[in-house]
Amino acid sequence: MFLKDLIDKFYLDRQKDKEQHHFYITDAGKCVRALFFKFKNVPRKEMEANILRLFDHGDYIHQLIMKPLLSIRELHVVASEINIPPQELISGRADAIISDGKDLYVLDIKSMNSMIFSKLTEPKEENIDQVQLYLHYFRIPKGILLYVNKDNQQLKDFIINYDKKRALSLLDTLKDVKKKIDKNIIPDRLPDFPENWQCRYCQFKEVCVMANSGEVKWDAFKKKVQEHKSPSSV
Ligand code: SF4
Repeated sequence: MFLKDLIDKFYLDRQKDKEQHHFYITDAGKCVRALFFKFKNVPRKEMEANILRLFDHGDYIHQLIMKPLLSIRELHVVASEINIPPQELISGRADAIISDGKDLYVLDIKSMNSMIFSKLTEPKEENIDQVQLYLHYFRIPKGILLYVNKDNQQLKDFIINYDKKRALSLLDTLKDVKKKIDKNIIPDRLPDFPENWQCRYCQFKEVCVMANSGEVKWDAFKKKVQEHKSPSSV
């Protein structure tokens, strides 16, 4: 009991005051209003310690996958945990770049539970978005999305081909959000709010409801947020 509390506190302390100053590849395709709130460090619903531990578990699964990849003769791991070339807008780290002796591939590893894994017949759109940006910045035409069932370690993989139009459109959206952040304009919420899956897990849902639909001026709304007590549940 004593140990559980200390471990929970370690994870909860780590997530506090995570102010964001630039985009991450994982922001690609995400709700632009939630991104705005992240940049402005709007109070968010705290994640539970066990969910935060699951993120660490994901890192551990990545290491498990990399181990055989480093030993397979038919493959060559060109780089692992590699950052995209530095630039102002966005940062990100791909799990690996691998080669089969003919082509290079950017590898992105995702882990999920059995229920989601069993229904997966094609790569998730939000994961394709991320891979598209890796392919764009590394100038590599092919990627692999490797899904791991974290309950039984089953695998599924999908080849992703670079789609320049999609990558540029994702970057245009991020540039547009950046302009809104600088001009203090809260973007509109998702058109299918609150049914969209992102709304279901959104840490800013309570604040988003307060802002209502449409674009909203941040300066006036900020006061409302400050007056509102720190959200504890949505
Ligand atoms: S609740 Fe939905 S629309 Fe609102 S910020 Fe979160 S993800 Fe975006």
